[in-house]
Amino acid sequence: MSQIVVQKFGGTSVQDAPAMRRVMEIVKQHGIKRGIRPLVVLSACSGVTNSLIRIGELAMLKKFDEAHKTITELDQRHYNIVHDLKLSLRVEQEAALELRFIWRELRTLVRGIELLGELTPKMKDKLLSAGERASTTIFAHALREHLSKKSIAVHYCDARDFFITDSAFTLARPQIGEITKRMKAHAKKMIGGAVCITQGFIGATKRGETTTIGRGGSDFSAAIMGIAIAAKEIQIWTDVAGIYTCDPRLVSEAYAQPVVSFVDASTMAFFGAKVLHPETIGPAVEAGIPVRVLSSKQPTLKGTTILTSSEGTSGITGIAIKRNIALLKICSTELVPVATSLAMIFDALSEHKIIPLATSLSFDNAIFALDSAEELSKLQSALRDYTNLTSKQGRALITLVGHGLEYSAGVAARLFSAVKKNNCEMVSFGGSGNAISLVIPDDEIESAVRRIHKEFFTS
Ligand code: ASP
Ligand code: MG
Repeated sequence: MSQIVVQKFGGTSVQDAPAMRRVMEIVKQHGIKRGIRPLVVLSACSGVTNSLIRIGELAMLKKFDEAHKTITELDQRHYNIVHDLKLSLRVEQEAALELRFIWRELRTLVRGIELLGELTPKMKDKLLSAGERASTTIFAHALREHLSKKSIAVHYCDARDFFITDSAFTLARPQIGEITKRMKAHAKKMIGGAVCITQGFIGATKRGETTTIGRGGSDFSAAIMGIAIAAKEIQIWTDVAGIYTCDPRLVSEAYAQPVVSFVDASTMAFFGAKVLHPETIGPAVEAGIPVRVLSSKQPTLKGTTILTSSEGTSGITGIAIKRNIALLKICSTELVPVATSLAMIFDALSEHKIIPLATSLSFDNAIFALDSAEELSKLQSALRDYTNLTSKQGRALITLVGHGLEYSAGVAARLFSAVKKNNCEMVSFGGSGNAISLVIPDDEIESAVRRIHKEFFTS
């Protein structure tokens, strides 16, 4: 009787034969253990989903030759991977045959677009599903051959048979009840000692029409599948080994936090840290399944485990950075500050669906840190007639994140003393209990971040 872990690998982890070999090693080392069997969920090889989108666009532009040429390139690229994996001749031929079927289907789709002169969302999903189907086809053959010496069975599972979604093509929502029901058979195989390989990102309606769940959706697929089979753990293998105390390109001493709460992971992402989109794994964390973020390039590193609560996590998680943000300062034109001007500002924010990165309000002024110049100009035009506006661009937002911020005496003082040489133009604290944000000129970011990191993480 085995327990199940989900191992999800993104596009760069399966981009070529050496990458796929590394994944096979990871499956062997970190997925298959005594009493543990993995469900391996793969993305398309990196860049392939984009090429498939391009194929659809080319066909719509009536550039059919180019569309077919792009299919030929995909065919070549995948065939090269199969070839470079140096499988036995029989297995290589089997894989090549199955891949050929996928490319043939794509050519038929292009022909369909040509005849109909349209590319419906339903057709688009069929087109996009080719990427994940191709990567998993190759991988399943390779892993099966690899594990045959150990007598471990490897099953290729088409996600369209069990990952049931609604029919909102290109942005379909998975139906967890139905998925749970249909995954029982696969779970049984894994509990019995087999390894299963399947696709992220793609699924099907109850009627069997292929769907996709939105770009970058594979993490979400892995989370839903993990819940459906009551996985012991979900491993997300990417190219960064977890959630770092800071972007290691800016601060070489940055390190991966061993455990981070879901709230802090989300806060880090919101404020600009390049961590996986936490909302995609939210349902799994909520269901109490630990989600580990690991690097397929450095598989021996422990990575970061994301947990439901902050119990056992360090009080301060990390520093998130957003560069090239804008500041908008709004002064009421009324002599006496009035509540209506605030209402107007918030109306404008909600109308343009703008969530300020940071806010500071005083009796006569409001200042907002905004993600982009585009948001800045939208807000400027919405408020121009009623208020005096001043804006600044080329700013950076530095956010210290951690559940311990709210209650630890002296954290703010330490933060401010670390940036005492910088021209700090705005501060936001208290709104989210686990974040303090500062805005400084973008060209001062490196020195400021290094000093903050030193203050909180290395001294
Ligand atoms: N292959 C899909 C994409 O590139 C899904 C994923 O990688 O998560 O968007
Ligand atoms: Mg991808």
